[in-house]
Amino acid sequence: MKIDLHTHSTFSDGTDTPTMLVANAQKAGVGVVALCDHDTFDGLSEAMEMGRRIGVRVIPGIEISACSGEDSVHLLGYGTDIHNADLLGELSKCLKSRQERIPQIVSKLTEEGIKISVEDVQEKAAGNSIGRPHVADAMVAAGYVKHRNEAFEKYLAYGKPAYVGRYEIPVEKAIDLVHSAGGAAVLAHPLIKGRGENISTEIIEKLTLENGLDGIEVDHPDQDNVSRDLLRQLGHRLGLMRTGGSDYHGTGKIGHALGSETTRHSALQGLVTRIRSHGGKISVL
Ligand code: AMP
Ligand code: MN
Ligand code: MN
Ligand code: MN
Repeated sequence: MKIDLHTHSTFSDGTDTPTMLVANAQKAGVGVVALCDHDTFDGLSEAMEMGRRIGVRVIPGIEISACSGEDSVHLLGYGTDIHNADLLGELSKCLKSRQERIPQIVSKLTEEGIKISVEDVQEKAAGNSIGRPHVADAMVAAGYVKHRNEAFEKYLAYGKPAYVGRYEIPVEKAIDLVHSAGGAAVLAHPLIKGRGENISTEIIEKLTLENGLDGIEVDHPDQDNVSRDLLRQLGHRLGLMRTGGSDYHGTGKIGHALGSETTRHSALQGLVTRIRSHGGKISVL
């Protein structure tokens, strides 16, 4: 039975509804799955309901848009209280900023001769965590690009003509918020290539010693073996939980099949212990 601690649903930029996601997890031999939509908990109740129905354990998760100085970092929160007012307050700033940049991206695309409307993009997002993948989906629907990846490579990625930044929570603050909400904080894919989702080992060490970071995601499809080895050693030295997950986005990301990357049972148990130590309630394994 596999443990996959990083997946997305239609409540952010995945293409499976939470119900489909949990059903597909079971088909892929995943018995424990964490739904970690970007900046929102909205898909969790549906996922947990489906999990109870078919016997898949769903861990409540989130992938928070954070930053370290100028760099974007993604922080996974596990087992947090999804009604915590402070955390929800900061997340609402992220969600507002996600909404506000869509017209800016659309107008940059217009300058590039790509005629899609804000409504075309809104239509592609089921929840309020809207992002560049939904812009890409609107571009695919209008026939400008073949898939999301092409839209990112030509227009939407950092440094490309239609790139627009957005609000991100300083990562130290994001860790504190996760802890105050009773959760464990794990840095997502710390060493994948390209701007936006990268962080130095010195900063990981600082976040561990000064902010009590709980873990790092070692096994992720976009992290090569050299990075994984480095993270495994660093995590061991710092006493961090070392997790793995597919970062499944349904058909929205190629090479991220459910259960393709996994977390060891002992690491999940360690994470549960951390969650309890932060005051979170999570059922026994
Ligand atoms: P945003 O949330 O608007 O900043 O967009 C970032 C999201 O886009 C990430 O969470 C990824 O899921 C997705 N993404 C980034 N690069 C690509 C790519 N080349 N192809 C498909 N999806 C991507
Ligand atoms: Mn995503
Ligand atoms: Mn990420
Ligand atoms: Mn993700």
